[in-house]
Order: sequence, then C-alpha cells, then structure tokens
Amino acid sequence: MYFQLKQLSMTYPSGKEALKDVTLELKSPNLIGLLGPNGAGKSTLMQLLVAGILPTKGEILLDNVPLMQAEHLLKSKLGYLPQTFGLYDELTIYQFLDYIAALKQIPNRKQAIDSVLSDTNLKDKKKIKIRTLSGGQRQRVGIAQALLGNPQFLIFDEPTVGLDPEERIAFRNLFSRMAQERLVLLSTHIIEDVQSVCNQLIVIHHGNILFVGTPVELICQAEGHVGIFEETNIGQESGISITSRVNTSRGIICRAVADKLPVFASFAEPTLEDAYLYLISKEDAK
Ligand code: ADP
Ligand code: MG
Repeated sequence: MYFQLKQLSMTYPSGKEALKDVTLELKSPNLIGLLGPNGAGKSTLMQLLVAGILPTKGEILLDNVPLMQAEHLLKSKLGYLPQTFGLYDELTIYQFLDYIAALKQIPNRKQAIDSVLSDTNLKDKKKIKIRTLSGGQRQRVGIAQALLGNPQFLIFDEPTVGLDPEERIAFRNLFSRMAQERLVLLSTHIIEDVQSVCNQLIVIHHGNILFVGTPVELICQAEGHVGIFEETNIGQESGISITSRVNTSRGIICRAVADKLPVFASFAEPTLEDAYLYLISKEDAK
C-alpha cells in the first residue's frame, strides 16, 4: 500500500487548524511511529487516513487513486484502533469480536477470532463481559478488533495507553512482527513505544510535520545539543530545556537540551528522547 498526502490541511469548524499543509508518503511494509505532544494533530491525521473526516485542503492518494474513490478498497484492508472507542459493555469479549467480524464480513469467523485472541493474550478471558474489564484489558480488546481479518494496513491511535510495562513490550513485539509485511502506523507520545521498533518516525507539533526519518537520523540532529551539569550552576540562562534531574551524592545533576549549551555543561550523547525534546523545544522557542 502506498499513501501520498499532498498539502493536507484540516481546520475544524471551530476554526482550530489541526493540520497545516502536510505532505508525506507512507509505504508498505513499514512500522511508522507518529510522535507528538497532546494536541499535535496525530488523531486528526489518522482520522483523515481512514477517511473518517475530510480534509479542508489538499488530498490523500491510495495507490495513486484519490482516497474518496478508493474508500471501499481502503476499508477492506484496514484495521483501526481509534483513540477513544465504545465497546459493547454487556457483550463478552468473544461476542463483541464476533459482531465486529460479522460487520467486516470475515469468512472464517471462529478461526479469525481465535487468532486475534491469541495475539492479544485474551484467550482465557473470552467469556468475560466487557463491562468488567480493566483499562488495559479493554485496550487489548480494541487492538484485537483492529487485527481481525488480517488487514494490510493497521492504524493504532495511542495503543499502549493503560497497558502495563510487560503488555507494552508484548505489543511492541507484535506490531514489529506485523509490520514485516504490512503498513503499521502507530501514534504515541511515549518514546519507548517507538524507539526500538519503528523504522520510520514522523514528528508532528502544532499541526506541522517537524521530522520524517529514522530514529538514528533524529538522534544525529541533536548531536552537540545535549549536556549535563550541576543544578547549582543554573543562573539566568535562557534557551535551555531541562529534560531530567537526578539526585546524586554531588547534588542534583540536570540533563538538558539547547541550541547553544552553557559553558559549564559537559556534552552528553543524545538519546532518542533528548532528540525529540530538542526538536519540540526548538519549535516552541520560535
Ligand atoms: P493529538 O491526537 O495529537 O492529541 P488531535 O488531532 O486530537 O491531537 O487534535 C489536534 C488539535 O485539534 C487540538 O488542538 C484539538 O483540541 C483540536 N481538535 C481535535 N478534534 C477537534 C474537533 N472535533 N473540533 C475542534 N477541534 C478539534
Ligand atoms: Mg490523539
């Protein structure tokens, strides 16, 4: 699958410009992380990609066909986990998935459901009513319904919300496995979700795309802009963003990103998180 987003803008009726002139290409197979702070425009971008809303400007092409004309093809190949979704509280997990499988017109429903129950580690819970599930379990049901029917294009909007660390690792591995032959796009504001698995990152902020590339390329951009120093050194310096503070026997040691680091800072090797925060802080300073 090949998506082209051409000068895409989305302004809500309220006047809020959620996306501004976004031009992007998404190609299969790939695991792409869409990274950005809350309110950046991630969910808006995903809703445009699933043709849930229409852009106010620009267009999306799927395999060179305008999305509006390719909508049927898109829906037949799509698995989507929206950021917020209603589950049918009085149904059991199995009944709910059976209902979604029927809507998706999946031929061998039982086999398809068993397969996604196993992927999401919900096999032993299938007879439990959705009403009684924890937040993380509900999220797993949401992921399971997206996986039904083995779609070639998977969009997960903040899939790891509510999951415990072990579950997050399990899903990271699942997404990575799926992406070997599919296009998987996942949004998050949690760096660990994307750092070891995504081949491509898209960083979005205030509706603008700030970066498209590999995690290593993003890290390289922050080379020379990450430093550590003792907190007592901080005076009136401006333009530095502290990314962490650690208590040590020498007092509090700060880690910070800045266009120009203060003289008392010693350089540190950037991590992906530093690089992301550097990019966002540069934009905020504009
Ligand atoms: P993210 O998913 O990155 O947190 P969203 O795409 O949900 O960001 O939102 C981007 C911006 O658009 C935010 O400022 C949000 O408040 C606004 N927004 C989102 N949905 C609507 C809507 N239906 N009507 C008006 N504004 C909206
Ligand atoms: Mg969102």
